[in-house]
Amino acid sequence: MAGKLYLCATPIGNLEDITYRVLKTLKEVDLIAAEDTRNSIKLLNHFEIKTPMTSYHEYNKIEKSYQIVEKIKQGQNIALISDAGTPSISDPGEELVRICYEEGVEVTSLPGPAACITALTISGLQTRRFAFEAFLPRDKKERLDILKDLERETRTIILYEAPHHLIRTLEDLWETLGNRRICVCRELTKRFEEKKLSTISDVLSFYKDNEPRGEYVLVIEGKSFDELKKEEQEIWQKMSIREHMAFYEQKGVGHKESMKLVAKDRGISKRDVYQSILTETT
Ligand code: SAM
Repeated sequence: MAGKLYLCATPIGNLEDITYRVLKTLKEVDLIAAEDTRNSIKLLNHFEIKTPMTSYHEYNKIEKSYQIVEKIKQGQNIALISDAGTPSISDPGEELVRICYEEGVEVTSLPGPAACITALTISGLQTRRFAFEAFLPRDKKERLDILKDLERETRTIILYEAPHHLIRTLEDLWETLGNRRICVCRELTKRFEEKKLSTISDVLSFYKDNEPRGEYVLVIEGKSFDELKKEEQEIWQKMSIREHMAFYEQKGVGHKESMKLVAKDRGISKRDVYQSILTETT
């Protein structure tokens, strides 16, 4: 009988955050695939877990995924852990899960700590709708593209950042998003946990005077619907109704549907759109 892959979330700082089910599973499986075995041995020693480990990381993930899948097909149960938190969340794991599905191998996830959710819950910002962006790309163009997208994002935004990149990221956020509210969460669940709910420019000047240290999650307020609507209105008002129609029709939207959308965007009736098209063309 085939075994199973268990995605096991481990603490992001405080070792007491490990779940009973993860502890039991790590003790019972045949093998633990760990992102960094030298790091994870500390966790296993702390909980007196003697299960053998193998490494599964960014640079061997494809080849290793097939080896792991083969072992599971032969009947082994295997747990995947990352250095901290939930595997697959900004950590290797995604490929292994995908390959398990392709190969018909069962996967289950044992929930537990994830820095993004921990930060969101204590951010003091809206939690109902959020967008997790993980680390912003280092590549200039990719980074700019993502930042441009984020500028219009109405959901609360969650980012991960390393201390040596924090100031640059705060500067980029300030330039693209403006002076939004932000909660900077540092060293979550650890002894020196800190939360700073303020504005981007405030935290930027703080960190220019106080060198960033430790692990950070940034939770940023999304754009308000009112502001987004106002900006859109300004764009539409700069266009003639015919240009506005062309905007949709060039995207492949049918004539009737484009009229509906234009009417909605401008807060006027379809009849007004129709009339204006006639007047503009004559
Ligand atoms: N898989 C992890 C999770 O579930 O959150 C994330 C791994 S990612 C490689 C590491 C990043 O997560 C860090 O650079 C930091 O941004 C964030 N992080 C992890 N632990 C944290 C903590 N205790 N406090 C604040 N941020 C943390």
